[in-house]
Amino acid sequence: MGEKNLAKESICKWHKKDIEKNLQALIKLVNKPRFVCGNCGRSANSKKNLCKPIQIKKTKAA
Ligand SMILES: [Zn+2]
Repeated sequence: MGEKNLAKESICKWHKKDIEKNLQALIKLVNKPRFVCGNCGRSANSKKNLCKPIQIKKTKAA
């Protein structure tokens, strides 16, 4: 139950308890999502936090 460096891991691999205990850390990783996981449907700011990252294309404001 030690302090893992979850920020360096794929959030796809976080366990439920990790999410509960590190909610604030998780929010920092996903608050400005630029990538979506093609596997799990999660989104994150950094592709390193997803197991199958796909860049979210910016839609230009019309
Ligand atoms: Zn994933």
